[in-house]
Amino acid sequence: MNDLLPLYESVQERMVAAAKRAGRSPEEVSLIAVTKTHGPETVRDAVAAGMMLFGENKVQEAAWKIPLSPSCARWQLIGHLQSNKARHAVRLFETIHSVDSIKLFDTLESAARQAGTRPEIYLEVNVSGEVSKYGATPEATFPLVEHILEHAHALTLSGLMTMAPFDPEPEHSRPHFARLRTLRDELEARFDITLPHLSMGMTGDFEIAIEEGATDVRIGTALFGARPIVKRPAADADTTSGML
Ligand SMILES: *Cc1c(COP(=O)(O)O)cnc(C)c1O
Repeated sequence: MNDLLPLYESVQERMVAAAKRAGRSPEEVSLIAVTKTHGPETVRDAVAAGMMLFGENKVQEAAWKIPLSPSCARWQLIGHLQSNKARHAVRLFETIHSVDSIKLFDTLESAARQAGTRPEIYLEVNVSGEVSKYGATPEATFPLVEHILEHAHALTLSGLMTMAPFDPEPEHSRPHFARLRTLRDELEARFDITLPHLSMGMTGDFEIAIEEGATDVRIGTALFGARPIVKRPAADADTTSGML
């Protein structure tokens, strides 16, 4: 018996209940288990409990963890991506949630062509306007989508992602999630495309996100417990490229 199983089951039950409250089918919502700061043994236990999709927020950390983890695990990048890590990211991840500029898109597109991989991408949108957040402004997504539709061959644009500002009251996230959904609808109408994925909701607010249309919820703490506070070198920048 695996310690993670009851936690996984309880998160799944809460996801199903939220979907039903919103009149949605529970199968529309995927759980991305966020294993950042946890080692490959946690991934092994999570796979044994039935989890399949895993989210990491740092390329460097994922690069050592993924080869040590069960090969059936599927990996998604949910955190900010620096252009200089793009060539690793397109090999490690099947989905990248954090594209927020034309420059990053161009770098990823050429990296994926070189690597011969075909990741899906989501646009990260800063719907709240919080200055500390990554992500394109809602207005900037229009020229970004236009550029991507013209230039994407290896990459496929399939959704939007956002993080609500930290707030202990989950209900306060609702307008931000609703804004991401309406932005998705506006982009679909403007460009005559479909953007099926809405990546939104974390441990504190995933039920609200599901009620507002989330298809991908990114959950760490509710599954794996509180993360240790790790002191990291500033910006985990270029010192890592040699290690990868
Ligand atoms: C860490 C992280 C999560 C998961 O956060 P929890 O509150 O532990 O569920 C989700 N999304 C992103 C982008 C993260 O960095």
